[in-house]
Amino acid sequence: RRIGVALVGLGYYAAELLAPALQLTRHCRLAGLVSGTPAKLGEWQRKYGIADANLYSYDDFHRIADNDEIDVVYIATPNHVHRSLAEIAARAGKHVWCEKPMAMDAAEGEAMIKACRDNRVQLAVGYRMQHEPNTRRFMAMAKERPFGRIVKLRADAGWFGWRDGADDAWRLDPARGGGAMYDMGVYCINAARYCTGMEPLAVQAWDETARRELFKGVDETMRFRLEFPEDIVAECVTSFGRNLNTLQVDCERGWYTMSPFQGYDGNRGRASDGTVFEPQLGKLPRMQAEQMDNDAQSIIAGTAPRVPGEEGLRDLRVVDAAFASAKADGKRVEIARG
Ligand code: NAD
Repeated sequence: RRIGVALVGLGYYAAELLAPALQLTRHCRLAGLVSGTPAKLGEWQRKYGIADANLYSYDDFHRIADNDEIDVVYIATPNHVHRSLAEIAARAGKHVWCEKPMAMDAAEGEAMIKACRDNRVQLAVGYRMQHEPNTRRFMAMAKERPFGRIVKLRADAGWFGWRDGADDAWRLDPARGGGAMYDMGVYCINAARYCTGMEPLAVQAWDETARRELFKGVDETMRFRLEFPEDIVAECVTSFGRNLNTLQVDCERGWYTMSPFQGYDGNRGRASDGTVFEPQLGKLPRMQAEQMDNDAQSIIAGTAPRVPGEEGLRDLRVVDAAFASAKADGKRVEIARG
């Protein structure tokens, strides 16, 4: 049987990527919808043929517990409500797939992991890159070390937004998890961790927001430096003011690089020995389909998901420390350990 997925938050990512990707999966089906906008529910219901009984508002979302057609709740809302929605889903006995960043801070991430553990449901984070073949290659190279010791890493992730003046989107609102660090910085952190196979010890961060009139209280641009064991350093930039999408790993006897390293169409890379990493997944939204099929198979097999809640939590510990450092003008802040 296919795993029944209910999408929560019918915004950009759910509409443009997740719902189309669900049509390409082999192990999932779009079974339910959760939205605060009745008109959207009607529109989506017609488009995807969803039964009346499988439509929910945020007020009656907890009733999903009684719905046997829904196995998983996929949270694709603004970041400040990831935690509460994950807890409702877990209490309803539904597995949780949650978009990145997993939550607002490490304490919330821990609460989500506990709720899912207590209710014996799986928790997977939507870090789609970890389902992408070239990224899997780079992750393996963290162990193989084909060019010797890793010396330095560079990870830059950003996109240019809000060209036309003021905008009240949640990505500009500190209370709703706005800012570049939450949105794109977590890709840099995750990549630095999966390329080294290590956990960072400390961080220094600098808020380099240029358009302060637009980015009130959130970071437009954050530059940060992660210290890893073995004297490995990762230099990162995340921004809503620049298009950035490059990962570079410098080693004792060579280098490898990927650009883009978090593209929807798959990643492209090369190495100093002439190796070329061509995109392998084909057209979008193949990557999201791959991710959901892998996570569905973990549910079917009763095995841990490839990107469990702990992966999101480890990144949130780095985010917490980076925000503390940026507030203290780049002071070195040690990263909490689990
Ligand atoms: P969006 O604003 O387009 O969509 C969010 C949806 O959630 C909207 O339909 C909104 O109405 C709804 N919503 C539910 N509760 C809400 C609340 N309390 N306040 C405001 N809106 C509420 O945003 P998006 O770009 O689709 O991003 C959603 C999530 O997906 C974010 O966590 C984001 O980081 C993540 N995302 C991930 C990727 C990826 O590549 N993995 C890409 C884009 C977005």
